[in-house]
Amino acid sequence: MSSTDDTLKANAEYARGFELGELPKQPAKKLAIVACMDARLTVEHILGLQSGDAHIIRNAGGIVSDDALRSLIISNHLLGTTEILVINHTDCGMLTFKDQDLRDKLITESVVDDTAPANFNTFSDLAENVRRQVSRVRSHPWIPKGISVRGLIYDVKTGQLNEVAEKKEEQQVG
Ligand SMILES: [Zn+2]
Repeated sequence: MSSTDDTLKANAEYARGFELGELPKQPAKKLAIVACMDARLTVEHILGLQSGDAHIIRNAGGIVSDDALRSLIISNHLLGTTEILVINHTDCGMLTFKDQDLRDKLITESVVDDTAPANFNTFSDLAENVRRQVSRVRSHPWIPKGISVRGLIYDVKTGQLNEVAEKKEEQQVG
């Protein structure tokens, strides 16, 4: 049996005892989360969330891509979320290769260049990547200025979340 078959079987079991059919579509905790797709980062578990609590937008690296922004804007403007978290994690696969290396390999194997995606958005500094993603959210003109946007790194060895401190601006004197 394939993993897909296993999951369909598990769902049949899940649906038998289902009692959440009346949940509203607006997230109860008014929370939207952008997180890496890593299989060890089970967002609901690590944050104590239940069905109906939050929007969870996931992709390789927890990148605030145009598509993640699309979801965040819909989440905020149409579904009432007012707090945003960006979650990356230690030992992320995106730290282990470079955009150009993967692109070269794919072009060699498929003999097709010039196709989407234009970027894989790899990164070499985890905390810096989180800051960059938080800044992409904050600087978007359709994300309200007063909204809380925080960046976190999940430690896959300890289960702990650590907040990424904002870079201190050099104090300008005079
Ligand atoms: Zn990752």
